Amino acid sequence: MTCTDASSLDPVGDPAPREECGVFGVWAPGEEVAKLTYYGLFALQHRGQESAGMAVSNGDRIMVFKDMGLVSQVFDEPTLNSLTGHLAIGHDRYSTTGASVWKNAQPTYRPTENGGLALAHNGNLTNTEELEAWLRSRDERAKIVTKDSMDSTNDTSLVTALLSTFAGSTWDAALQVLPRLQGAFCFTFMDASALYAARDPQGIRPLVLGRLERGWVVASETAALDIVGATFIREVEPGELIAVDSGGLRSVRFAEANPKGCLFEYVYLARPDTIIADRRVHSVRVEIGRTLALESPVDADLVIPTPESGIPSAIGYAEASGIPYGLGLVKNSYVGRTFIEPSQTIRQLGIRLKLNPIRDVIEGKRLVVVDDSIVRGNTQRALVKMLREAGAAEVHVRISSPPVEWPCFYGIDFATRAELIAPGMTTDEICRSIGADSLAYISLEGLVASTGVPKRRLCRACFDGQYPVPVPARIAEQMRLTVQEETDE
Ligand code: SF4
Repeated sequence: MTCTDASSLDPVGDPAPREECGVFGVWAPGEEVAKLTYYGLFALQHRGQESAGMAVSNGDRIMVFKDMGLVSQVFDEPTLNSLTGHLAIGHDRYSTTGASVWKNAQPTYRPTENGGLALAHNGNLTNTEELEAWLRSRDERAKIVTKDSMDSTNDTSLVTALLSTFAGSTWDAALQVLPRLQGAFCFTFMDASALYAARDPQGIRPLVLGRLERGWVVASETAALDIVGATFIREVEPGELIAVDSGGLRSVRFAEANPKGCLFEYVYLARPDTIIADRRVHSVRVEIGRTLALESPVDADLVIPTPESGIPSAIGYAEASGIPYGLGLVKNSYVGRTFIEPSQTIRQLGIRLKLNPIRDVIEGKRLVVVDDSIVRGNTQRALVKMLREAGAAEVHVRISSPPVEWPCFYGIDFATRAELIAPGMTTDEICRSIGADSLAYISLEGLVASTGVPKRRLCRACFDGQYPVPVPARIAEQMRLTVQEETDE
């Protein structure tokens, strides 16, 4: 078991949606780039907790250090002191492609004529079969790099292998490979002398550029710029490739931008202090709560969040409804990240492993409980029961996203469609299933409006099944079969 085998440690067997990865990169001569990367990865830890790693170059050679576990478990002071150089990339991983094992930790690395190539990836490619065929068809040198000889089983290793098959500069290789990729990708990568960053033409996952006094930083979220003291400059544009070396920063478009940012980043995935599309995620979530209150009002005494992710939307709901806001639940923040298997006695405590009610706040109250999403419904069922046991007079559940009905192929791991509670059940049926007095989700239109981003510039596929990047035919066929089987039941 790894420290983030959340499904096996989750007391109610209902893990939250999980982001694939966080990426970071820094080019800063004269700075301790390994330590900057370490802190950047800390700020992005919420995006991946299975493994962490970094690659550092001193201009001549690249050193890679990675292992299973949290950033604080993987790196110590002596390790960071040994990783000297002026250029680094880093990665926090949660796997959606490839197994959760050491060899799939990132950055991936391959030797090249340019002193090696290291690459870190956030997202998920959808045309890996086509890319594998391309890799096989490359020149004689490429034929050595078959899937069997790649150092891991994920789509990231495939891209690293493809880039390494091109003679000449890493820049030129990237311009050959990037236009052939489909799906969601934010890359930070490096050879011995330059830092690179690239984002898919849809810009599904976030990637931002920041400035240090003596260098440049790229990161999945602005929160990682803040922690290293970098100034936010701009987002890496969809379809853009950036390189930073001793000649400065240069940029090119490898594909026309067709923005489709992930709507779920606003609901749950990104940190509240991160800025996406010029808006603080916290502010968007407060607005989502306001919209939810206007769409689905209820007569109640107190609005409480499911911590931590429900807090901003609960604040917004309270503001718009005029119902007081209170903290009725306390989260045991680190319990899901332990290596220690809970005893049967502790496991029987169920949701109390994660959340503890404050009876004095709850007792006798008609509660509105604001949460970000319902996956299988097990968490909300246990939560409603726990709140009633703590003396709540009524429990009204309000969800700050529409029902999640479809899988994500762009880097987020929901439960499978068969495991999700929303497909095939009405809201009333789900309400009865979780035992609440009432249940309401925000509408898709209300959620989109709360972001301030036009609907056409957002991916909403997990809510409406409209996939902005083609899903592989084989998978689409499997999905049709799954839907058919469910319908037949
Ligand atoms: S399917 Fe959902 S989670 Fe995946 S990228 Fe689109 S909006 Fe985000």
